[in-house]
Amino acid sequence: MAVTELGRKATVACPFCATLNRVDLGRLPDRPKCGHCGRPILVDRPVAVTDATVEAVLAGTTVPVVMDCYADWCGPCKIMAPALDDLAHERAGEVLVTKLDTDRNQATAQRFNVRAIPTLIVFREGREVARHAGVLARRELDALVGPTGQP
Ligand SMILES: [Zn+2]
Repeated sequence: MAVTELGRKATVACPFCATLNRVDLGRLPDRPKCGHCGRPILVDRPVAVTDATVEAVLAGTTVPVVMDCYADWCGPCKIMAPALDDLAHERAGEVLVTKLDTDRNQATAQRFNVRAIPTLIVFREGREVARHAGVLARRELDALVGPTGQP
């Protein structure tokens, strides 16, 4: 197994108790559990990030991170959601798909200068490498994220 395989890690907040967990993405078949409440940590679907957690998630994740900046009232965001669900499912362990509710997390939305929703931002090693404002189709998401395998 390549070193890069061993080094695939993500930091995500537990959806049940909000505790930050470090997840070994090379061992997803082992079904990672929250270290605090013991419930499953699921990274094969978009994971919520907030003002409180986004820094730790970006700093602690070695695979590309997609951040979907959305709002509950945004129609195009709902149109886009299945494509993001599919990306998260198909590329689980290679890409971490996150979602930011821009109404509830305005500090982060401002920090990343989100002016329209949906806005998709791709980070590698904590740095923004790509961005798109507006709806994208599933295959266009792959192009935005770029190749994986090298964290
Ligand atoms: Zn938990």
